[in-house]
Amino acid sequence: MDLNEILRKEIDDLKEKGLYRTLKVIEETQYPVARIDGKELILFSSNDYLGLAGHPEMIKSSVEATKRFRTGAGSSRLLSGTIELSRILEKRIAEFKGCEEGIVFSTGYMTNLGVITSLAGKDDAAIIDKLNHASIIDGCKLSGAQLRAYPHKDMKKLEEILSSSMNFRRRLIITDGVFSMDGDIAPLKDIVQLADKYGAIVIVDDAHGTGVLGKTGRGILEHFEMKGDSIIQMGTFSKALGSLGGYVVGSHTLIDLLRNKARQFIYTTALPPGVLAASIAAIEVIEREPEQRSLLWSNTERFREGLKKSGFNTMESSTPIIPILTGDEEKTMRLSNGLYEEGIYAPGIRPPTVPHGMGRVRFSVTALHTEEHLKKAQGALEKVGRELGII
Ligand SMILES: *Cc1c(COP(=O)(O)O)cnc(C)c1O
Repeated sequence: MDLNEILRKEIDDLKEKGLYRTLKVIEETQYPVARIDGKELILFSSNDYLGLAGHPEMIKSSVEATKRFRTGAGSSRLLSGTIELSRILEKRIAEFKGCEEGIVFSTGYMTNLGVITSLAGKDDAAIIDKLNHASIIDGCKLSGAQLRAYPHKDMKKLEEILSSSMNFRRRLIITDGVFSMDGDIAPLKDIVQLADKYGAIVIVDDAHGTGVLGKTGRGILEHFEMKGDSIIQMGTFSKALGSLGGYVVGSHTLIDLLRNKARQFIYTTALPPGVLAASIAAIEVIEREPEQRSLLWSNTERFREGLKKSGFNTMESSTPIIPILTGDEEKTMRLSNGLYEEGIYAPGIRPPTVPHGMGRVRFSVTALHTEEHLKKAQGALEKVGRELGII
């Protein structure tokens, strides 16, 4: 048997199960409108919640930094010296989050791998919400810690796991702040209370909260009016900050340890200057221009209320991530494809990204969607939703 034949079998298997994925090439016209295969669509698939990826100041900073410092960093940070922009960004993100110190990684995915493997090993318990992001699960697996998962936001079960994990050297509780497929928010106050009771470390992934949650967009801790001293916060510059890269913020000691231990920091090339400059500019724009966040939230509330009135199940979403529960995989794809025909791009989310029977079409609302965009999406959803018997 030749290699391709073996691999083809696996692909055929995915196709049979309705789990085969293809890449769609998107040609932007006037964001958030784009052309896919020659067809004009309104995109509801981007995490650029505030529209910062197209902000003139971000683009200007990025271009200027590229011209001045070149396109690539050229080496890893420890080996050939750190360019100043990396340090500026680390200081700015720490300040923004109200923490002593920060460290920047190439992506949010690598950040989770780095922070978890640096803090947990085979003598530890990594305790996670079942719906955590794949990068958290991969970080736990790579760390060799004993993995224990509790049902989504189930605090009773979390306590049971904690109380039966006292024989481990450390207990790490790791949770998404905003759950990326459900759009609901972790009960962080309760988690921290339990962590204190059982002597556990808490890591919160604020990927979808930074720039979005809280009065000034500082994320989940601001949302709950909590202090960050005892919580390890990570996040990404790739969503509301419209750039690329991940970060951890916390105490000097924590960041010092990560710089010395995280292989995802040590053995990879630093982010390019243009990307670092864009991230620095994003923090400044978020601090200076709260109007994008107000728009994001008014769009979000209006759209979600409309969908609920039409009878869609938006689960427990309370953020700009709005899932529409469809259930089985086939219906999920039929809704997503039907919307596509109507000029609306919202991806169907299937296992293994979500549990079986929990398929959904996911809308991400942004500040750039106009009233007309939202109305068009609502109309298309009602039309296709009725045809499929979802409402
Ligand atoms: C997107 C995401 C990540 C990964 O961030 P990238 O910068 O895209 O690698 C990590 N955690 C959560 C919860 C995310 O949604």
